[in-house]
Amino acid sequence: MIKLRKYLKPFFAGILAAIALLFVQAFCDLSLPNYMSDIVNVGIQQKGIESGAPEAVSADGFEFAQIFMNDRQKALLSDSYTLVSATDTDPSGKLYSETYKSIGENGAYILNSGLSDETISEIENAFGTATLALINVMQSDEFGSAMSQNGGQSSPDGSMSLEDVDVAQMYAMKDFILSMPSEVIENAIADAANNSSLASQCAITITGAFYTELGVDMGAYEMNYIVKIGAVMLLIALIGGVSTVMVNFISTRIGTALARNLRKEIFSKVAGFSNSEFDKFSTASLVTRSTNDVMQIQVLLTMGIRMMFYAPIMGIGGIIMAVNKSLSMSWIIAIAVVSIVGLMLVIFSVTLPKFKSMQKLVDRLNLVARETLNGLMVVRAFGREDFEKNRFNKANDNLTDTNLFVSRVMAVMMPAMTLIMNGLSILIIWVGAKYIDRSALQVGDMMAYMQYAMHVVMSFMFISMIFIFVPRASVAAGRIYDVLSTEPKITNPESPAEFVPSKKGLVEIKNVSFKYDGADGYALENINFTAKPGQTTAIIGATGSGKSTLISLIPRFYDATEGEVLVNGVNVRDVNMKELRSKIGYVPQKSVLMTGNIATNIAYGDDNISEEQIKTAAKVAQAESFINEKPEGYEYEIAQGGSNVSGGQRQRLAIARALAINPDIFIFDDSFSALDFKTDAALRAALRQHTADGTVIIVAQRVSTIMNADRIYVIDNGRIVGEGTHKELLKNCREYYEIASSQLSQSEL
Ligand code: ADP
Ligand code: MG
Repeated sequence: MIKLRKYLKPFFAGILAAIALLFVQAFCDLSLPNYMSDIVNVGIQQKGIESGAPEAVSADGFEFAQIFMNDRQKALLSDSYTLVSATDTDPSGKLYSETYKSIGENGAYILNSGLSDETISEIENAFGTATLALINVMQSDEFGSAMSQNGGQSSPDGSMSLEDVDVAQMYAMKDFILSMPSEVIENAIADAANNSSLASQCAITITGAFYTELGVDMGAYEMNYIVKIGAVMLLIALIGGVSTVMVNFISTRIGTALARNLRKEIFSKVAGFSNSEFDKFSTASLVTRSTNDVMQIQVLLTMGIRMMFYAPIMGIGGIIMAVNKSLSMSWIIAIAVVSIVGLMLVIFSVTLPKFKSMQKLVDRLNLVARETLNGLMVVRAFGREDFEKNRFNKANDNLTDTNLFVSRVMAVMMPAMTLIMNGLSILIIWVGAKYIDRSALQVGDMMAYMQYAMHVVMSFMFISMIFIFVPRASVAAGRIYDVLSTEPKITNPESPAEFVPSKKGLVEIKNVSFKYDGADGYALENINFTAKPGQTTAIIGATGSGKSTLISLIPRFYDATEGEVLVNGVNVRDVNMKELRSKIGYVPQKSVLMTGNIATNIAYGDDNISEEQIKTAAKVAQAESFINEKPEGYEYEIAQGGSNVSGGQRQRLAIARALAINPDIFIFDDSFSALDFKTDAALRAALRQHTADGTVIIVAQRVSTIMNADRIYVIDNGRIVGEGTHKELLKNCREYYEIASSQLSQSEL
């Protein structure tokens, strides 16, 4: 993947934007459980009361509470509260009697604004411990016995429920409590201070009681809080949703755009490949690389941006948030993470090798499919359908098996994941319930903890998923990189030389030896060959003797390993390839036609070829008669690969295509092989006329095709074993005589 970073550069800004948005999304996702916990803890359990420092306390309550406070706390309260009456107005001009409907004649104490958080929490603590102290007093033996003496009733179990505190009843006990020995109260205060874990809960309860006393509608108060937090949650969810959509949008764009760029690069690279590079990569593999492999990269980028960045953010963020909620339950998350990572490790160690081999299997499938479909005629002719079917099925089955195997393992993974997640929930509830019972944890916090734990587990799962996608994509990236980093061996020279006008059409091959890449021996050895303008030069030899190889050096499809090839007086390495090839009309051994009609095929070499030129070329190539027989004429559509014309017709169209560009040099690589003798002869005659001062190089296996050539080279096993005219060679060259005598009658020899 790193190898392809160059191609990622244009998307750098986009990737950064996506990462930033992922942070926003993670922030939203991580804060939602917190708010949910607030709704449960504060909204529902505390009736919407956020703070145990009451905003307002009736004067009676204020005095009563102070009974259970030490001097410092009393001073704090008198500094922090102001006495108001029903007819006073609050800073916004509203009457206190409107806010606190049951405010009595004694008035109420209102919490001053602008107090520091520290002061507020001290006030909370003061009210909380005071409430605890009150409970301690009521649970004391002195209180119990005094109450029964007074004929009063204490709670059956001597305890007091803090729910539904009736302040009126409480205030009624004021005188009685004050009459108790002062050390009872002092002890109660001291006990409360020592056991303050319940203080904040008590402060909240007493605050609620004070509010009720003042006539605040607690139902509305609670609703208010829940709606407020709910609205915030909605907003956060909305922001999170928008960033999710935007991240997807951006990453999909980046993925597809990168894929497009890669395909473009691969294609233009491959188009510049010389034959030696094509020999290195099979066509099937090049196709897989530019489709399937590019797809892998696209998938990685589209999904990967999300997984690679979001998962770690969520993982770390989730752990921090969860630990914040309850440090003592961290071990549960640790167990969950260890089991998820363990599961993933097992699964990936099994599937990873399979994932890696997938690409090769796709390659193989493409190769077999291509070969069979291209050679379908041969397959049928030789009755090898079953053999090819088996070959295809084998490749197909291999791929299917691998896919199935991977899918099966993945199918196991999902339920296992769910099991771990559900187990995790149960464990959290189990352990959490105990903490809640001990008042060490609130219900809302446990619920939030559960959600954070899920986030953590999920993100670890995603992080491990990266280990599937990344190796898979990096195999693909490597394969793409192999293509992109292959520099064509045959390139244009820095400063191209000019052709020598006086040597127009002259082809000279001097002391050339040639070896294919990776081949053991030389395909050509020490070749000296000259083709002159206005002459026909022929090459004859057995198949595999090196004829096509020799010819392919002239348009520089390959570079000679040793020696030099000169066209129009300059070395082919020193001139611009496009210019060189525009001087050569090359008809390959295997005629290839492009999709399009006959006219566009003939005019393939140059956009400016006129209709007249097309017709002339077709006429010389002896293609005119069969073209005219078609109802569409030159408009006749050529099917893919030229399958709807005969082999001989295809050859003639290929010849016409070479003629149409009007080159200096004509090269026919066994291009008359599919023609009948009559057409062969007619074509050569027309050609001789048409190419009057051009250089004609004909490769043939039929002696009759070349026996009138001005000069004939006999090639055998990569060496030239004879040269001269037909007559000379018959006398001097044993190899030529053997070929000729096998083809011609005794009288012709
Ligand atoms: P001819 O055209 O005379 O039938 P070729 O020039 O096609 O023969 O082939 C000459 C020799 O080079 C043969 O032995 C052949 O196997 C080998 N050859 C041809 N093309 C390649 C190639 N692309 N890579 C390696 N060897 C090749
Ligand atoms: Mg050949």
